[in-house]
Amino acid sequence: MGAPLLKTEVHHRRPDLAGLTLSELETFMVELGQNTYRGGQVMRWVHHGLAVSFDGMTNLSKALREELATRASICGPVVSARTESEDGTTKFLLQLDDGHCVETVFIPGDDHDTLCVSSQVGCAMGCRICRTGRMGLVRNLTAGEIVSQLLSVRRELPESHITNVVFMGMGEPLANFDQTVRAIRIMTHPNGPQISWRRLTVSTCGFVPKIRELGRELRVKLAVSLNAVTDEQRSAIMPINRTYPLAELLAALKEYPLPRGSRITFEYVLIGGFNDSDADARQLVRILNPIRAKVNLIPLNQDPEGEFQAPSPARVLRFQEILMSRSLMAIVRRSRGQDILAACGQLASGVEAAT
Ligand code: SF4
Repeated sequence: MGAPLLKTEVHHRRPDLAGLTLSELETFMVELGQNTYRGGQVMRWVHHGLAVSFDGMTNLSKALREELATRASICGPVVSARTESEDGTTKFLLQLDDGHCVETVFIPGDDHDTLCVSSQVGCAMGCRICRTGRMGLVRNLTAGEIVSQLLSVRRELPESHITNVVFMGMGEPLANFDQTVRAIRIMTHPNGPQISWRRLTVSTCGFVPKIRELGRELRVKLAVSLNAVTDEQRSAIMPINRTYPLAELLAALKEYPLPRGSRITFEYVLIGGFNDSDADARQLVRILNPIRAKVNLIPLNQDPEGEFQAPSPARVLRFQEILMSRSLMAIVRRSRGQDILAACGQLASGVEAAT
């Protein structure tokens, strides 16, 4: 076994084939005395065939299948719970092989479906409006564990047509940078799950140096949890802002190399009496002016344990009107799956119960 394979899959004694790139799989097969092209065959079985064992890989010899079964793993996380919301949003609780759990949310659409994947168990960023933030960080996911969320849901929902992936589940993907980038490279590979680069979005709370690094490594869409228009306001709910204040964040975003024709999505959770005034809306227009931006306005879900208030429907409309009247694209996002706690900032409840 080559050292790079082991290094990338720290939680698996045997390499998890869902977390290997084509060239790594080719190297792996050559190490087993096989031709290089076997790497591509196995990759297609894992990602296109959604194989859970080596038995069904009928274009490999029986001896090779048996050897693979002792040298590698492909089974991925186990679906330990599945909760469907009235709007069709389905939350999956996936158990990893060390017993920890993560959540993955399937969001059906009219012509395409979206999967919201987790990148960490818990999160160290401590955003005050987020349940995952209250858990703290347990550990990073491997690339295989990130990609396997997509494979597991495709197995569970064979009729689904997941074309869009958003890294907006548990965790800050840029704090697990290497595994996130590796997972994206695998997800977009022709032998992999074949997600288009244009339909894959990484969401960050504003990890500035890694935003710059991401721009150097990949050409991928970006979403930013902004949630405030001044440093004072933002630092009060998002500790990352004390390290990377708004001016630094906005400067990095201005230079971010977006895929052609796309915009940076700014997630703005509207909190009653905190960041939902007319002045806040006007300031939001000002600070986003130099950036190709669109804004998702997300009225805060009233959280029974939370310390913040939901905004009034009239405030939400007024806030949107101010942005739109100044030519800033702004959509009030339906909060999907609210009844099952799968909406923005609500992941983690089931995880706490299950671990
Ligand atoms: S909003 Fe995102 S970055 Fe902030 S604590 Fe929650 S999961 Fe972490």
